[in-house]
Amino acid sequence: MKENLIDLAAGWNFDNSYARLPGDFFTRMNPAPVRSPRIVIFNEPLALFLGLSAEALQTPEGAEIFAGNRVPEGADPLAQAYAGHQFGHFTMLGDGRALLLGEQITPRGERVDIQLKGSGRTPYSRRGDGRAALGPMLREYIISEAMHALGIPTTRSLAVAATGETIYRETDLPGAVLTRVAASHLRVGTFEYAAQWADEAELRALADYTLERHYPEAEAGGNRYLTLLREVAMRQAALITRWMLVGFIHGVMNTDNMALSGETIDYGPCAFMDAYDPATVFSSIDTQGRYAYGNQPHIGAWNLARFAETLLPLLHEDGEQGVKLAEDVLAEYHEEYDRRWLAGMRAKLGLFREEPEDRALAEELLGLMQKHRADYTSTFRLLADGKAEETAMGDSPEYRAWLTRRQARLARQQEGPEAVQRLMQSSSPAVIPRNHRVEEALEAAVQDGDFGVMERLLDALRSPYESVPERTEYCTAPAANGRPYRTFCGT
Ligand code: AMP
Ligand code: MG
Repeated sequence: MKENLIDLAAGWNFDNSYARLPGDFFTRMNPAPVRSPRIVIFNEPLALFLGLSAEALQTPEGAEIFAGNRVPEGADPLAQAYAGHQFGHFTMLGDGRALLLGEQITPRGERVDIQLKGSGRTPYSRRGDGRAALGPMLREYIISEAMHALGIPTTRSLAVAATGETIYRETDLPGAVLTRVAASHLRVGTFEYAAQWADEAELRALADYTLERHYPEAEAGGNRYLTLLREVAMRQAALITRWMLVGFIHGVMNTDNMALSGETIDYGPCAFMDAYDPATVFSSIDTQGRYAYGNQPHIGAWNLARFAETLLPLLHEDGEQGVKLAEDVLAEYHEEYDRRWLAGMRAKLGLFREEPEDRALAEELLGLMQKHRADYTSTFRLLADGKAEETAMGDSPEYRAWLTRRQARLARQQEGPEAVQRLMQSSSPAVIPRNHRVEEALEAAVQDGDFGVMERLLDALRSPYESVPERTEYCTAPAANGRPYRTFCGT
């Protein structure tokens, strides 16, 4: 009874629509309890949006929930089944260390998944321990919240709870559980699972569920499953464009890490690019560069093709016709990506209207940036701040020539310098989660228990498009030390 009152005060308002899908799609189970739960970071603005009480949850009782020791009233925890292509190879997967608690209905009536990540073994754990380390969970918290502040669709992070337990990777590490908030955890891989192991009625049920949840405006008549494919493709085109325009590298774009909602999901070896180079890879396991920065739009299409294949039985009774419909959508994806990318580049260059030479103007700048190893974020921000001469391209004649052409282009539009600057500054962030800053914050938190460095970083990341003089330390690129930055998947 007392616990029910606590949950009521906390504001939990669960519905569990996923649990009403056919049983093959999940396994009901509770999180595995941990020794001594303690909340180390909590997202108050997100709690407010969710209709949750920060006051009631930043308590020992809240820690019990965020570590998985107690299931809040109304939740119906389950591990989701899914499959996926990992680095091109099909595998059976599923939530191996995560559980969906349920869907919180927010005060505005929105439905969002509340998921615990690191909550113990499940039937889908394979050889894994079901656990997560504190460092990588804090890293997901920082980067997902930074993406949100950048205006990029993403899952979010409500809390990280330390478990008081040690987990074993290459070394002993402190364990933690992340509470993740998502529009849903439906993935391309969920459909791959359905296509492989469920019957057509179940596949249809999953497709209907996805439509209802993310594309409710899709009409009952018409080819709804084609609409589903097209909408997912358009959202991915929009999402990947946003990544490309801020220099974000997801790092592990396996089909199980592509959300059908169009949110960025599964922050593993992701990182922001420093010096511009399309071949940039941070992940230690991506030895072939499959998920390199410049390859992301192409991989998006590859993943969408896998999604389309799962939908073929629903697209058309004639298989060949279905394939044709799917191919048309993939072509539309490429066009949409291209259109959005060029529009985004125009904004970054301060161009309001279209001229035929705009693409060349953007591509030439990128070419110069690559040649001079210019930092992606700083270069565009210096241009936006009217400090074009301070970029790494300095006063090289080719860059001077480019600046002259751009000046001529700006002179051909009516908008004055202020409007141009506003457009550019709102399109090119001053602050991104720079790798060296993220590492520094994680080191202080994990090794010294000092969360102040991370709090200050999170604060700077909350308004990334503003130029704040005191924040220059978060804006500068790392000194080139010859050692490429590496991220690890062993999360
Ligand atoms: P990820 O690389 O985080 O997208 O994970 C890929 C798959 O491995 C997913 O099915 C995860 O649930 C699973 N997984 C990752 N780490 C663990 C772990 N420590 N224990 C069990 N399963 C895991
Ligand atoms: Mg994943």
